[in-house]
Amino acid sequence: MSAHPTRHQAITSVINFDHNDLSRIDLEEPVESIYGQNVFSMDLMEARLPKAVFKSLKKTIESGEPLDPTVADVVASAMKEWALENGATHYAHVFYPLTGLTAEKHDSFYTPKGSSGTIAHFSGNALIQGEPDASSFPSGGIRATFEARGYTVWDVTSPAFLYENPNGRTLCIPTAFISWTGEALDKKTPVLRSMQALNKQAQRVLQLFGHKDISMVSSTAGPEQEYFLIDKNFFYLRPDLINAGRTLFGAPPPKGQEFADQYFGAIPERVLAYMHECERELFKLGIPIKTRHNEVAPSQYETAPIFEFGNVAADHNQMVMHVLKRVADHYGLAAILHEKPFLRLNGSGKHLNWSLGNSTQGNLLDPGDTPHANAQFLVFCAAVVKAVYKHQGLLRAVVASAHNDHRLGANEAPPAIISIFLGDQLRDVFEQLKSGNASTSKSKGSMTVGVDVLPPIPKDAGDRNRTSPFAFTGNKFEFRAVGASASIAGPLVALNTIMAEALDEIATELENATGGDLTKLNSAVQKLLQKIAKDCEPILFEGDGYSEEWHKEAAKRGLKNLRTTPEALTELITPQVISLFEKYNVLSERELRSRFDIYVENYCLNVKVEANLTIEMAKTIILPACLRYAGELAGIAANLQASGLPNTDVPLLKEVTAGIEKLQKAIAALEAVHHPGGGHGTVYDIQTAKHFSTKVLPAMNAVREAADHLETLVADEYWPLPTYQEMLFIK
Ligand code: ADP
Ligand code: MG
Repeated sequence: MSAHPTRHQAITSVINFDHNDLSRIDLEEPVESIYGQNVFSMDLMEARLPKAVFKSLKKTIESGEPLDPTVADVVASAMKEWALENGATHYAHVFYPLTGLTAEKHDSFYTPKGSSGTIAHFSGNALIQGEPDASSFPSGGIRATFEARGYTVWDVTSPAFLYENPNGRTLCIPTAFISWTGEALDKKTPVLRSMQALNKQAQRVLQLFGHKDISMVSSTAGPEQEYFLIDKNFFYLRPDLINAGRTLFGAPPPKGQEFADQYFGAIPERVLAYMHECERELFKLGIPIKTRHNEVAPSQYETAPIFEFGNVAADHNQMVMHVLKRVADHYGLAAILHEKPFLRLNGSGKHLNWSLGNSTQGNLLDPGDTPHANAQFLVFCAAVVKAVYKHQGLLRAVVASAHNDHRLGANEAPPAIISIFLGDQLRDVFEQLKSGNASTSKSKGSMTVGVDVLPPIPKDAGDRNRTSPFAFTGNKFEFRAVGASASIAGPLVALNTIMAEALDEIATELENATGGDLTKLNSAVQKLLQKIAKDCEPILFEGDGYSEEWHKEAAKRGLKNLRTTPEALTELITPQVISLFEKYNVLSERELRSRFDIYVENYCLNVKVEANLTIEMAKTIILPACLRYAGELAGIAANLQASGLPNTDVPLLKEVTAGIEKLQKAIAALEAVHHPGGGHGTVYDIQTAKHFSTKVLPAMNAVREAADHLETLVADEYWPLPTYQEMLFIK
């Protein structure tokens, strides 16, 4: 083998991986018996709590009624008993800080008893509220470091669960994380607030449609999770993958994804074994994982759950990401959730399937098959169109990250322009709605396009369009611009809140138009739909989102095209968005601005680390290899010349040394615009972010380009970094 020794060793380890060692789960244990076994579920609560306490808790969970604090002690005691019976020694408040990650603070149940022994203790207070030292979590200036207090507060609506480790079990309690002034420091709090706002406005619209019995309306979410898996022998030889989550170097492999031979192909045995264990772990936690398949890029996969209420789906997706990473290690694999780990190959997204509904009226974005249901469906659907049109900038902002910038706008992911794909049939309905009362000549004579006469809309109301960032897919919308490693909380909050606003405006208009007389509803709805269909038409696009023409057309339509995170993030703090979140009590201006500051800082830190890595890897790994090779070529050339032989190696030597010169220049240029430490007092504000995006990133790309070219020239035995070919195809 001609490969560099470290690569050679990695390849040998992969080849020697013992595939007989894959079985790690007890197949005798049927899924029915493990599903939800580690969850303190409604059933368990019903069995273990006094009737009155259970009833009160259930009301909070199912109808959104305020939590009665007096039940906490009873619930805590039942939870503790269950946890101890199942071998737990600790409990942890789990929360979701603005880093987008999951945080947990563990406490032991046990306290010393008198002079000897110990007693397990867990009070209602400990259940309801925790106080982790919050000073190291980003707060965007809400909480000065000297006021380090942050509280975690029990979220009853997301079930507590036991988290297993080979050496013990921990009772995990999902919580919101707030400052001592009551401001949200996390991703969960605004999700809960936005769901409340959405419920309130959806109720008003449903009342207008004459429903008497209306249960709590919730947003529902089903996030499809894409990820890569590579052998960890390669992973640990790549400082860029370890520290930045993506490759900062790497020439394209001879074979990429052009054969489309991976999509839905047979899943490799080791990967399938891994998936089985992941699913089993998730089943135990009551996470309804449903699908698994190979994705388009080599070594890329996807898993998706059955949808759940938004808040629970968000918590569960955090756990899915965690389990995907943790279990990989058991199979000698590394799970990569970055949005664009490999240049020129498909990136990873997290298609967020989103809808709203309740137990009495069902899914409100389901067209149904009666005209009456259609009218109601069309109103909800039009509300989405109206909301997305008005708040396209916000939707772009909530999917913005340094990672996702490499995906959005590249040729496989949705473009950075937000538009809606409705599908042929629904698009046609909107077309008809535009003309409202006007007659059309579709059939003989004239037809009034009243809501009641619209055709029933079948579930698959059109083809699929993978290029659209926001597509109607039969009975839900699919927000495809979300990044694979991102929390779905931000996008959920945005969708719920803009929908609440649109429904609020619609309800007000219809209430005014009907004045309580529901016989006037039809004509009022028709007028409303006509206006939305006309006003919001620019956001509707059925064509190819990747094409150049669309970019031009979108500009003509006045749609935003925010290519980079710094551009997109400023959309978070426009007067329109500030008043939106304030009006529906989802985020105060201070909370919103703090988020803006944190996301800007996050962006800067991400690019900073990547630039540091680029410089370090180029100087200490790539350049030395190239120089060594150039030295060998120079020696050969000198020898040939001394022997009076034709000097055939000189052109290659010239090419390599020219490449080295280019690389060195590119490194120097990067160093000129980037200050690795950031220096004391560096402010990671929007100006710095713009500097990173317009100066540092292009300089990094130039270094990469020079290095990738050298990779195609330098002898294999000198190249120290695992290649794309090795990482993606040797498994
Ligand atoms: P598709 O083939 O369009 O991707 P699937 O039926 O496989 O559709 O669903 C994809 C994801 O959408 C799944 O996670 C699924 O649970 C979710 N989903 C289905 N219905 C809804 C809904 N009403 N609200 C939110 N998500 C949904
Ligand atoms: Mg889908």
